[in-house]
Amino acid sequence: MKCIFCQLPSHDSKSVEHVVPESLGNKTLILARGVVCDGCNNYFARKIEGPLLEMPFFKQTRHRLSVTNKKGRIPPNKGVIVDAGIGEVIITKDKNAGEGVTIPDKSIEKKY
Ligand SMILES: [Zn+2]
Repeated sequence: MKCIFCQLPSHDSKSVEHVVPESLGNKTLILARGVVCDGCNNYFARKIEGPLLEMPFFKQTRHRLSVTNKKGRIPPNKGVIVDAGIGEVIITKDKNAGEGVTIPDKSIEKKY
């Protein structure tokens, strides 16, 4: 078997290729082991999928829709509490623990 991208032998590949990244919720559209070699699969994960998933649009959408990554985690999202003068906060979601808000120290206004 040859990799569909680089055409090098891929019969000993250990990874499977998700047509749509697993971190975007795809659990079923998966190419058979060896269709894409480990080198190409790793390249796409590092150079394309990783940077794409770090873009604010995708992080916020995954948070809003509670789409987990491979480790079952939902990415945190940023928010702002204006009235209390707190500023930026981190909103977390967990399938078991629910939602939470973390207030970074730097976000609390110092009032003298
Ligand atoms: Zn390849």
